[in-house]
Amino acid sequence: MKIPYLSFEYQHGLLKPELKSACEKVIDSAWFIMGNSLKEFEENYAKLGQTKSSVGVGNGLDALILSLMALGVGEGDEVLVPSNTYIASWLAVSAVGAIPIPVEPNLATYNIDVDQIESKITPKTKAILPVHLYGLSCEMDKIMEIAKKHNLFVVEDNAQAHLATFNGKLTGSFGDLNGTSFYPGKNLGALGDAGAVSGDNAELIETVRVLRNYGSEKKYYNKVKGLNSRLDEMQAELLNVKLGYIERFTQERTVIAAQYDEALAGIEGLTLPHVNEGSSHVYHIYLVRTPKRDALMAHLAELGVNAMIHYPRPPHLQEAYQELGYKKGDFPLAEEIADTCLSIPLYPGLKDEEIEYVVKSIKSFFQNN
Ligand SMILES: *Cc1c(COP(=O)(O)O)cnc(C)c1O
Repeated sequence: MKIPYLSFEYQHGLLKPELKSACEKVIDSAWFIMGNSLKEFEENYAKLGQTKSSVGVGNGLDALILSLMALGVGEGDEVLVPSNTYIASWLAVSAVGAIPIPVEPNLATYNIDVDQIESKITPKTKAILPVHLYGLSCEMDKIMEIAKKHNLFVVEDNAQAHLATFNGKLTGSFGDLNGTSFYPGKNLGALGDAGAVSGDNAELIETVRVLRNYGSEKKYYNKVKGLNSRLDEMQAELLNVKLGYIERFTQERTVIAAQYDEALAGIEGLTLPHVNEGSSHVYHIYLVRTPKRDALMAHLAELGVNAMIHYPRPPHLQEAYQELGYKKGDFPLAEEIADTCLSIPLYPGLKDEEIEYVVKSIKSFFQNN
C-alpha cells in the first residue's frame, strides 16, 4: 500500500465543482486585486476566528511581519520566540530588524515553556510570539498574564492551528495582532500562497491594511513605507469556499488522531502527542518521537508510508542565523525534538484501512527493533 504524507484527493474531489465556479466568478468579474471577494473573505475569516476584523495578506510570513511592523517593533528590539518553531516565526522578527530570543519548549507539548518566558525578558523585550505548534494551543492564560505584567505585545503565530482553542477561546484571538497562513498544506489552505492578520483593535488592523498595500490609503498617496502583500481575489474566492468546510475537516482530523492515539498507545520507545489541560489540538501534524527515528522513517518508506520531519534543524543551528553565534547544545530540547520527531500521514480522507496499515507498519518496526 502506498500512503502519501498528504493528499488533496478527497478534499478537492469533494470541493471541485465549487472551486471551479469560484475561479469562474473571479475571471468573469475581471477584478483581480483588492475587490469584493477579499472583502467578503476578510469578514468571513474574522467571524470564523472570533475577532473583530481580519486583513488578507500575501502569505503567513508577511502576516507576522506586518503584525510586528504595525505594533512598532523594530531595530534592536527583542521578541521572544520558541526555539523549536518553523523558521518563519524567527524570520518575521529579523525582517523588522528585531532580534529573536529563543525560549525552549515544554517537552510534553512542544509549545513554548511558559515557566521559562520571564527569565528571558530584558528592558529591550517588546513582544512574545507564541506558536501553536503542530495544531496544539499554547497555554495562553499564562502567556497573556506575563505579557500584561511586563507590558509586552503578543503576536500569535496561528499558521498551524485554525480552530484550536485554549479554555474554549480560539487561538488567533488572544494576541494584539495574530498572523496565520493559508499555504495549501495548512488546515485551512488556499490553492497558492495566502495569509491573514486578525485582531480586535481597529486602529492596529487599519495600520496593517495600509501597510500591506504600499503604505497607501489613497491610490498613489503613501502615508508610510509599506509592502506589497495582498491576498488576491482568486485565492480569496477559493478560500471563501474552503472556509465552509474547515469545521468538518478539523473534526475528521481529530477522529483520525484519536484512532492513532488508541492504536499506537503503549509501544515502548514511542512518544505520542500529549494534549495539556485547557488546550485543544487540531492535528495539523501528528507527531511521534523515538530515538530510532531515522530507522523508523526508513522502515516506513520501504513499506510505502511517507512520513516527514518537522523540523530537521532548529532555527538557531541554521546557516541563516550564524550571526547570533549559537552552537549545538545551546537549546537542547529543540535539538532533541529535531533529532527524534516524525510526522505520520494525517489528512481528511485518510481511510480506516490506510490508518491500520500505518499502525501495522509502525508496530512491525518496534517488534523487530
Ligand atoms: C507555514 C508557517 C508559517 C509561514 O506561512 P507561509 O504562508 O508559508 O509564509 C509561519 N509559521 C508557522 C508556524 C508555519 O507553519
